Amino acid sequence: MIIVMKPKAKQVSIDRVKAIIEEKGLYAHISAGHEVTIIGVVGDKAKLMDQNLAIYDEVDKIVYVTESYKLANKKFHPDPTIVNVGNVTIGGDTTVIMSGPCAVESRQQLLATAHAIKKAGAHILRGGAYKPRTSPYAFQGLEEEGLSYMKEAREETGLPVVCEVTSLDAIESAVKYVDMLQIGARNMQNFYLLKEAGKTDLPVLLKRGLSATIDEWLNAAEYIIAEGNPNVVLCERGIRTFETATRNTLDISAVPAIKAKSHLPIIVDPSHATGVRDYVKPLSMAAVAAGADGLMIETHPDPSTALSDGPQSLSFDQFEVLTEELRPLVTLLGKKL
Ligand code: PEP
Ligand code: MN
Repeated sequence: MIIVMKPKAKQVSIDRVKAIIEEKGLYAHISAGHEVTIIGVVGDKAKLMDQNLAIYDEVDKIVYVTESYKLANKKFHPDPTIVNVGNVTIGGDTTVIMSGPCAVESRQQLLATAHAIKKAGAHILRGGAYKPRTSPYAFQGLEEEGLSYMKEAREETGLPVVCEVTSLDAIESAVKYVDMLQIGARNMQNFYLLKEAGKTDLPVLLKRGLSATIDEWLNAAEYIIAEGNPNVVLCERGIRTFETATRNTLDISAVPAIKAKSHLPIIVDPSHATGVRDYVKPLSMAAVAAGADGLMIETHPDPSTALSDGPQSLSFDQFEVLTEELRPLVTLLGKKL
């Protein structure tokens, strides 16, 4: 349930409604806009059944929300959320490109990649230091050593850095080195991890779970926001379907669906969605055309020797071609790259 106050409602009227909600043991989340204040009721709204909040001073209307997520809900927060990652803003008028290797493999590999993607126009460096691999025998990541290379790459290039975290220990280490935490597809419903990410003050990139519905995904975002961290960026990375020609099936419809249901920015990862290098460019175009706020693209100095996800990684030259070909499309859409 959401209570929309009249434009420029007085603080005393807002406090009155808030007090009634709290008296019932519920939480009143206040979203104070420039003109209008919106109060979200978090908890069992049945406890308010005996109250007609519409009669109180300066209450404009009551909106009933059927979705269980509220803080991530567009009805609650009609203006788009803009998330700052270092000096980069996601959700504004720039189509933000994150790029880098699947896994940080060495200092030299990461620094070379950081310089190359910056030259091609990327805004954020991505790299995995904790790799949630399907096989326990596959390369698991350099962990804190990898994070230190991420930090060094940021110092050298000025690009903000994002790294996946897979445990509380990883969060505790990552906050010392990176500008954004990534929660990967496999951990999208690791509610403990979501809450811990929500307790940090770093923005969180939340990838869609392998078989998660949009509703489940937005509820996962709700876990982070409910801990006090509103800076969540969603990332569509393909879902499991019957199709085997690609690693996953990119759900392009998730972009307008998220835009209709939520105020959070959404980016698209065509690398993990397809697993096929040649499909990354056409699907990047499709994602941007559908309204995505950005892209995540895997790149590697020599994809043929990559320790993970080589077949979907672009060489530096291929990445440069991609950004060059994206530029006119982004401009046509009235945005910047
Ligand atoms: C990744 O971004 O490196 C990754 C493992 O992606 P996902 O969680 O989407 O599989
Ligand atoms: Mn990968």
